[in-house]
Amino acid sequence: MVRSLAQWTKTLSFPARISPNKAAKDRVNIHQVSPTITPTLSNNSLSKNNEINTMMNNHASLSEVNQIYSDPESEKAIMSSIVYCIHHKEGCKWSDELRKLKGHLNTCKYDAIPCTSKCGAQIPRVLMEDHLKYTCPQRRTRCEYCNKEFTGHALENHAGHCGYEPLYCENKCGMKVHRRHLGQHKSDGCSKRLVPCRYCSKEFVADTLPAHHVKCGRVPIQCPNRCDASVLAREDLDAHLKEECTVSVHGCHFKDAGCRFKGSRYVIEKHLEEHCQQHLTLMCNVVTKQQHQIASLKSALSRLSLNYSGTLIWKISEFTAKMGEAKSKEGMELVSPPFYTSQYGYKLQASIFPNGNGAGEDSHISVYIKILPGEYDALLRWPFSHSVSFTLFDQSACPEKACNIVESFIPDPTWKNFQRPSIEPDSLGFGFPKFVSHEMLKKRHFMKEDTLFIRVKVDPSKIVAV
Ligand SMILES: [Zn+2]
Ligand SMILES: [Zn+2]
Ligand SMILES: [Zn+2]
Ligand SMILES: [Zn+2]
Ligand SMILES: [Zn+2]
Ligand SMILES: [Zn+2]
Ligand SMILES: [Zn+2]
Repeated sequence: MVRSLAQWTKTLSFPARISPNKAAKDRVNIHQVSPTITPTLSNNSLSKNNEINTMMNNHASLSEVNQIYSDPESEKAIMSSIVYCIHHKEGCKWSDELRKLKGHLNTCKYDAIPCTSKCGAQIPRVLMEDHLKYTCPQRRTRCEYCNKEFTGHALENHAGHCGYEPLYCENKCGMKVHRRHLGQHKSDGCSKRLVPCRYCSKEFVADTLPAHHVKCGRVPIQCPNRCDASVLAREDLDAHLKEECTVSVHGCHFKDAGCRFKGSRYVIEKHLEEHCQQHLTLMCNVVTKQQHQIASLKSALSRLSLNYSGTLIWKISEFTAKMGEAKSKEGMELVSPPFYTSQYGYKLQASIFPNGNGAGEDSHISVYIKILPGEYDALLRWPFSHSVSFTLFDQSACPEKACNIVESFIPDPTWKNFQRPSIEPDSLGFGFPKFVSHEMLKKRHFMKEDTLFIRVKVDPSKIVAV
């Protein structure tokens, strides 16, 4: 191999044993050197060697050097200089006369030569074997997966495409699959692929599909009654049993009224058609029972609202209209709510004739009290002997100036009105036909806002109010 000096003198170095004096003596004159080159001489470098180096760095060829060193003596001296191999720093231990360097480099294992497989790379001899084996694009090699033979360059292109390279599935199912089977695996075999439920069409991860099928509402099932219905979706079963199933057993629609019949939907429909009369009877019984309940509730309610105080304050509103009605209709009587003299006492009721009655007819308001059949009559003393007073209130704005009208009496024990009343209410009462004259009624404030207040007070003490 031929190489120009410029190639190797860049790193040319000399061993320390060259004496400076000898070098000074061997100096040659070279005038065309450039001062800008930095030589890589050893510590005791000499100006002469500087010149050699600078000259060499200016790409002078060996023959040029020969021409420059026209003095054969000097040339001989220089070529006899002891130098290190240019690959000293890489580890070559060679050191000898400069003239032998060229020969050494032909065998120096650190010197780069073109790749023997002609890939074009310059490779140090020492690395050539590795290069040819592992990195040379021209090397012959086999794919570790498919075992096919490639050149190094083709293998690099093949890498990442080999169908036999095992790869982890991207769905993270944990499987390693040859690249050529990966597509098939992901669409058919992968446990983490998305698959639609064949009943409801929603997508699920393949390995959760069996769990979904257990509860999927669209899974077809048979009616548990084994009716003729074709196959049902699971989520429709309840509605089917309630609405459609011809076999499922229901109670008769009149079960609350007492009918105990049970049967399939079809049988129930037939039963309803055929048993109208029976169902009607059942419903009548229900109505009768409810009427009794209503009546007893009503009486319980009226008992709760009864007055047991012995004093009734009777409010008679819209009196003018009532008076008008009484004047046009003979014997028109207004009756008060019943009241008791005490919790277990006599049951009484007051009444008025707005247009008078008997001696007071057409001129007075008449007031009466009558004894109604009460719940405790059997335990009470007869005849009734409590004093009774009637009061028409003067509704004056100033109560001190009010002047009420009061009438009272003590029952006459011989009078039959005060005997124990029969179960049928007696129409007879006792009272004052001329209680208040129509004239008097217009005075003071007996009538205010078209309303009268009449108090009926029953007193066992027999003290007669005045
Ligand atoms: Zn060497
Ligand atoms: Zn190569
Ligand atoms: Zn391969
Ligand atoms: Zn997978
Ligand atoms: Zn489903
Ligand atoms: Zn069914
Ligand atoms: Zn029935």
